[in-house]
Amino acid sequence: MPELPEVHTTVEGLKKVLIGKTIKTVWSDYYVATAHGERQTIKNKKYFEAFKKKVTGSKIIGLERRGKNILIHLSNKYTFIIHMKMTGHLMYGKYRKAARSKNLESRKEIWKAEEKGPLQDPYNRFLHFVCSLSDGKHLVLSDTRKFASITITETKNLHLHESIRNLGHEPLDPKFKLEKLLEIIKARKSMPIKSALLDQSGIAGIGNIYSDEILWKVGVHPLSKSSNIPNKKIRETYDFMRKILKFSINKGGDSKSDYRNALGEKGSFQNFHKVYGKKGGKCPKKHCSGIIERIVVRGRSAHFCPKHQIKYGY
Ligand SMILES: [Zn+2]
Repeated sequence: MPELPEVHTTVEGLKKVLIGKTIKTVWSDYYVATAHGERQTIKNKKYFEAFKKKVTGSKIIGLERRGKNILIHLSNKYTFIIHMKMTGHLMYGKYRKAARSKNLESRKEIWKAEEKGPLQDPYNRFLHFVCSLSDGKHLVLSDTRKFASITITETKNLHLHESIRNLGHEPLDPKFKLEKLLEIIKARKSMPIKSALLDQSGIAGIGNIYSDEILWKVGVHPLSKSSNIPNKKIRETYDFMRKILKFSINKGGDSKSDYRNALGEKGSFQNFHKVYGKKGGKCPKKHCSGIIERIVVRGRSAHFCPKHQIKYGY
């Protein structure tokens, strides 16, 4: 799932190409398979029709990231809120609509990238949302598993929207200090530290990859009780969290899974993983002979070294 560095990379890439462009029309087939329990996103057909009316003819005036959400501000005082979830990623390029052939789904339309290159990467082919723009190009969302969410709200009410209002602090915000992280972690009392780092109402933007890498680096077991973690370890967590997020941004994010940037290209942070996805491998920490394990903590996977990551217990 795209986390802070990936969403940041997408937003920065799109800023360069989208600002000033007008949305001519939008297309989506999200609602075909999944209309249940999604009344307030474009997966609901009625919502999509209203969404289409609101965005058609408006100009893109700004983009920003909040947590793992992409915000696209429009000239008509509305803002798109896009959460890429598991496999979604937004891209920009020239596309054309084609008919699917020779099977039962032949009446369905599909979109194809016109130019050869990264947009034709197999992970970039699952287009379920397309905005046609005034420059003849398109803003598209590829989403293999169709979990992404697209919704719209009045810009002035953005902070009240359910995707935004409960988000916690931005870890790369200069105003986010160590004292705040201490407060966030201590307040999560008996919650395992892995879950505390993933809790978007505390710190916004961290997911499975970066939480695993941070805990490995600072030597804290993912099942440690949040309130029992020494302040020294929280200080190290604060420093390393900021360091690794910036490092990954410099590497263009993580493309171990489906993530690709705004031009359809891979990032390279996956080449620097120490524990994430390394189950059964030798711990890469100097002089450590641990073997990486994978466990499930409150429904989320955690990779760690049982030898050097200390469990601050219950
Ligand atoms: Zn180790």
